[in-house]
Amino acid sequence: MMLGIIIVAAGRGERFGGEVPKQFCMLGEKQVVEWSIEAFRETLADAKIVVVVPSEYADKVSYDGAIVTAGGATRSESVRRGLEALGETDLVAIHDGARPYISPKLIERCIEEAQEFGSAIPVVEVVDSLRWIDGGALDRGKVCAVQTPQVFRGDILRKAYRETKGEFTDDATLVEAAGYGVHLCEGDPKNIKITRQEDLG
Ligand code: C5P
Repeated sequence: MMLGIIIVAAGRGERFGGEVPKQFCMLGEKQVVEWSIEAFRETLADAKIVVVVPSEYADKVSYDGAIVTAGGATRSESVRRGLEALGETDLVAIHDGARPYISPKLIERCIEEAQEFGSAIPVVEVVDSLRWIDGGALDRGKVCAVQTPQVFRGDILRKAYRETKGEFTDDATLVEAAGYGVHLCEGDPKNIKITRQEDLG
């Protein structure tokens, strides 16, 4: 079973501000994105890892045991370019480079469930109350927050990305738009996405 990992780190993080994109800021002794790269490398020693970075960083950064490639203007475009650099693998895990707190346990759970069900999308319960901006509340028990890594059979993911043109904030939505079902699994509340300066502590 050949595993491919795509770490998308080509965003410019509009909500974060600052000169350096959030994924390249230091968090303790490592850059935000390096925590994810190491977590995957240590958990899945045989996996092929592609890190997608902004085009101006592509020939300036390198990470042990990973292929670096240039991303695009949107997340979906960055994933497309990551898939090209990865080549064919049985399973593909796509992870936001802005989620440095990813644990080996969550990586293993997502891979195991994707092997069984064809995909695995980690989700967590929503703890805040939710409202539509135009008025009225939502039942928070009926929604969940979606994380990464999202893991798919390689053939399905490639076909979905070939056939679906729009832009999506995550891969599960694109795969569903291509007509495939997705399997939800238990996420991890600690696996937050660094979004604002405050998230770096
Ligand atoms: O902007 P947001 O944090 O929601 O992006 C989620 C992930 O997608 C981040 O890790 C970001 O670097 C990545 N991304 C990308 N290429 C883009 C936009 C976002 O790789 N054009």
